[in-house]
Amino acid sequence: MSELPFWKTKSLAEMSREEWESLCDGCGKCCLQKLEDEDEGDVYYTRVVCRYMTDRCRCSIYEHRQREVPNCVWLTPKDVDQFFWLPQTCAYRLIAEGKDLPEWHHLNSGDANRIHAVDASVLAMALVRDDAVPEEEWEDYIIDNL
Ligand code: SF4
Ligand code: SF4
Repeated sequence: MSELPFWKTKSLAEMSREEWESLCDGCGKCCLQKLEDEDEGDVYYTRVVCRYMTDRCRCSIYEHRQREVPNCVWLTPKDVDQFFWLPQTCAYRLIAEGKDLPEWHHLNSGDANRIHAVDASVLAMALVRDDAVPEEEWEDYIIDNL
């Protein structure tokens, strides 16, 4: 009998640190700047990206990112009820909503580059760095929900 993988048997709160970290698919979508409609609470993604993202969708300051970027996203199991604003493909949001991981996710496919091949990351997007565009202009870069 085959054993079910951890993301099908454990809640986010039950996962070990390694399991939790391994869920991140490296899509880079949460590093895009977002705008919030304060009246409605809606969140809009832009193609303005954090200046610390590398051209392979990775964070260049991962270990001390919260010091450099105070509003950098730091997901924890405690915040599960806030995950609605995450991209629809985000593994944390999918698991929080009781869904499975997509076939291209590295935990299913065994291939960390497959996400780019199926265009589920920001790799091929026309991004602009957040230090290249004044914040008051970010509205011009709003994209459809991810
Ligand atoms: S959106 Fe989710 S899966 Fe994608 S990089 Fe951010 S935390 Fe990881
Ligand atoms: S500092 Fe935060 S938002 Fe910026 S690239 Fe790193 S993880 Fe993404």
